[in-house]
Amino acid sequence: MCGYRHGILQASHNSISPPCETPRHLNSNVFVAHMTNPLLTERALNVLPLFDQIQPSHVEAALDEVLAANRSQLARIVGAEGAPDWQSLVEPLDEMNERLSRVWGPVSHLFSVNSTAEWRAAYNAGLPKVTDYGLELSQSEALFKKFEALSQSAGFAALSAVQQKVVLDELRDFRLSGIGLPPAKKERYRQISLRLSELNTRFEENVMDAIQAWSLHITDEARLNGMSPAAIELAAARAADKKLEGYLLTLDYPSFDAVNTFADDRELRREIYTAFATRASDQGPQAGTFDNSELMEEILKLRHEKAVLLGFANYAELSVETKMAQAPDEVEKFLLDLAARARPAAQQDLKELEAFARQQGGPQKLESWDVAYYSEKLKESSLGLNEDALRPYFAMPNVLDGLFALVEQLYGVAFVRREDQRAWHPSVEVYEVQGAGGESRGMFYLDAYARENKRSGAWMDECHGRRTTAQGRQIPVAYLVCNFRPPMDGQPGLLTHDEVLTLYHECGHGLHLLMTQVDEAAVSGINGVEWDAVELPSQFMENWCFEPSQLKTWARHWQTGEALPDDQIKRLQASRRFQAGLATVRQVEFALFDLRLHRDYQPEQGARVLGLIEQVRDEVAVLRPPAFNRMPWSFSHIFAGGYAAGYYSYKWAEVLSADAYEAFVEAGLDQTALRSTGTRFLESLLSRGGSKPAAELFEAFRGRKPKVDALLRQDGLIAEAA
Ligand code: ZN
Repeated sequence: MCGYRHGILQASHNSISPPCETPRHLNSNVFVAHMTNPLLTERALNVLPLFDQIQPSHVEAALDEVLAANRSQLARIVGAEGAPDWQSLVEPLDEMNERLSRVWGPVSHLFSVNSTAEWRAAYNAGLPKVTDYGLELSQSEALFKKFEALSQSAGFAALSAVQQKVVLDELRDFRLSGIGLPPAKKERYRQISLRLSELNTRFEENVMDAIQAWSLHITDEARLNGMSPAAIELAAARAADKKLEGYLLTLDYPSFDAVNTFADDRELRREIYTAFATRASDQGPQAGTFDNSELMEEILKLRHEKAVLLGFANYAELSVETKMAQAPDEVEKFLLDLAARARPAAQQDLKELEAFARQQGGPQKLESWDVAYYSEKLKESSLGLNEDALRPYFAMPNVLDGLFALVEQLYGVAFVRREDQRAWHPSVEVYEVQGAGGESRGMFYLDAYARENKRSGAWMDECHGRRTTAQGRQIPVAYLVCNFRPPMDGQPGLLTHDEVLTLYHECGHGLHLLMTQVDEAAVSGINGVEWDAVELPSQFMENWCFEPSQLKTWARHWQTGEALPDDQIKRLQASRRFQAGLATVRQVEFALFDLRLHRDYQPEQGARVLGLIEQVRDEVAVLRPPAFNRMPWSFSHIFAGGYAAGYYSYKWAEVLSADAYEAFVEAGLDQTALRSTGTRFLESLLSRGGSKPAAELFEAFRGRKPKVDALLRQDGLIAEAA
């Protein structure tokens, strides 16, 4: 899953609040808190959070004060006489969002990167208050009426196109929150939303409980042959925790993967695969115990009802309403086309894998628990790629030099380390982005290494968005967070190529924010960008990590200075295409299933989950899992996360990023061409944030609509361009 998260501004922008709260007067205690509370002292436009002073004990007072101030300001906004205009409606709301973001942004950030018991408690205590406030705003009929009045006023035509989009986006989001419905329907909408949020949580809990409840105790170490020493050590530690001899295998992903991909013992692989593929279902070793069957039925039924209440034919239509894709059928066509193109390669991949497995003395027919295992062996033998052995060529200082040099080549901005700025941990670095004239364009925090109390994974988040107010311009500030292996004695941080990709990916999200030229916060940077287009800037950056002309300049052995050998570069490129056909049809299978599940739902028939996924597999899959496989029962992306009728977004955005990157290759990769294509990309797309529909921005850059060919070439599914 991608590490991108929406910033607080976006989360709360929609949310502006009702005139019902009595404004709370600032008493003397609050005044004292204000004087000493670092969450409240930072008011100036471009002052960064005071991370060296903020403590969990500051959260409650700061949050209460800001929410009270926002609620009284909201009462003034909706109570104001006369027709609303930009200055009396949008600007003060934007101000309110910013104020909340200055308090809650650092708190939720610290909750992620310094998740001590104290920070968790402070965050969890504040979260319901922020959620309530957000709901008040998004459910405010009075506020909606103000926006509606603004959109129908004579002044609307005088607003800039970007400002108009802000107002129209706002109205759309209000409508999609059930505003404007007759009271009985609105009440039903509210009940459905509450119930759905409960069901989503329970779905995820069932999956987690199913993972927690299963383990396999192994006393014969020989059964773990093939697994890495680190994985075996972990299994031993897990057993020791439970006061058991030997080893304990569990179903969390790293443990499952360590067995499924590496264990030589076929029966062991079969056993863990069976438990994993039947999590939270009516099958497998825990059949019926954490069964999500009924929850899925109810979730799909309520989603359908919600969509119909809002005037859509089905939930898939509601989902694409805020996306780049125009209609569910367009998405289906896209997926089927991709499947048709990838299937021959996938069949070839499978044939090759079967032949290899037989040659290795494996079974005549590959079962699901054999696929990852023999794929890994085939990858090793055909590519000879050893990720760990390449680490010395990817030392963090060199990687950063290469990345910064690339961005400078593309967009003409420089990165300057700011040692004077304070962060939340000594290993965090702060950089300033400077324009050609040395002017400050933005800042970012780089928190690269894993450590205790830091959430796993990698992500980019917004600290400050770009906005222009009467006080001046606020420049964007990003958090880039990764979890790389920390530097060891006398060594810099040495990354794998995969980690380099992660850094470039998150940096791509970061540049979307940092390079924006849009002055309206609601649509600047990553804000207001369609969900299925948001991975364009990030995946675009990954391409450079496979580009020989780039790797040659910076991928050097940190001790000897030797450049990464050509044959290693070729292997990296080949690894990108390894079994790309199989990987593509698998993603299409999930995306098509998700789309049809939501598009074709009929209340009288129910969800028909199993029948539907089998039908999708008949149509696109190359590998057939066993009949007991219950993958949808743990498909949290669509049943508990934000990807319902949107799982296709991964592939959709990849088409855009591959096609955008190919424009650079076509124009040439020398310095002059890079800058000229980079400038066009920046001006037509990257700097525009959500100020226009993504389809328009893409077309402005590429001069045509997106084509799938570049992605197919990238994955080796069709021949390279001559
Ligand atoms: Zn991402």
